[in-house]
Amino acid sequence: MTTPALELRNLCKTYQLPRKGGWFGGHIDHPAVRDVSLTLPPNAILGLVGESGSGKTTTGLMAMRLIEPTSGRILIDGSDITGLDPAALKPFRRKMQIVFQDNYSALNPMMTLQRIIAEPLHIHGIGTAEEQAEQALALLDRVGLHRDFGRRYPHELSGGQRQRVAIARALILRPKVLVADEPTSALDVSVKAQIINLLLDLQRDMGLSILFISHDLSVVRSLTDRVAVMFNGRIVETAATESIFGDARHPYTQGLLSAIPVLNPRDRRPRRFLSPAEIQAATPRLPGAGSTPGLVEVAPGHLVEAIAG
Ligand code: ADP
Ligand code: MG
Repeated sequence: MTTPALELRNLCKTYQLPRKGGWFGGHIDHPAVRDVSLTLPPNAILGLVGESGSGKTTTGLMAMRLIEPTSGRILIDGSDITGLDPAALKPFRRKMQIVFQDNYSALNPMMTLQRIIAEPLHIHGIGTAEEQAEQALALLDRVGLHRDFGRRYPHELSGGQRQRVAIARALILRPKVLVADEPTSALDVSVKAQIINLLLDLQRDMGLSILFISHDLSVVRSLTDRVAVMFNGRIVETAATESIFGDARHPYTQGLLSAIPVLNPRDRRPRRFLSPAEIQAATPRLPGAGSTPGLVEVAPGHLVEAIAG
């Protein structure tokens, strides 16, 4: 078996929230991510979908070691990076990068685009200043912006152009793994399609593996090889993209799919919105399942959360 580019094993994150209505009330535990295991193979794009608040961003940030998991393991390219201190983590930082929906805050307004893109090379002490600048300009070109953009500043860019710059900056260290957290959610439809095509192109070209986080199922369908569906901090279904879209087994996945806008109104099925309690109650009952909800393989590579029934 090939070594996964990224592997998450039983990741959990419990946030401590101050208890309401008291200075001395202590904290309550808010489990945002509960026992999430994911495998991102090399050269693949894995979609992580689910409604707002389901725990996608928390999972992506833990995968990049940008926040600490409460428990579980993170492996990059076969190396367990979970417990590494900042110095030991630094060489792995080169291998993993993240792009956000709101990249504006990530782009220093005082720096030219050339410097913004070259900065990771500078931080890791790679190449001379001249080589760093040249690589940044070459990458600007690669992400579809003219080299002249190198002298510009972030405020001069459109949303789509800023996202191209953020992608260039993320890729200049030639990472193995890219986490893209809703990278197209703030963009117009036509710009969205351009950024998706760019990501696909770069993924193939650079041998990247992408964890693509999105609540936009039509984008996920066109981009990913495999999909994991998150609900309430857990993975409730995971399968090859065509199986998720053609043969969803979990009621939560089915509900998400029924909410996708369709072009022809006559094809529109009635929307089904289930409450969290209804979804929990509707957890599939399968012979092989345990007494508490857990993932069961219902077809090769197709796992669904189920309980014994
Ligand atoms: P998603 O990206 O799917 O919208 P998030 O990972 O952002 O979900 O959030 C998952 C849950 O964790 C939500 O209930 C959210 O309110 C909570 N959460 C996220 N970040 C924090 C934080 N820093 N402190 C406390 N709770 C948080
Ligand atoms: Mg999010």
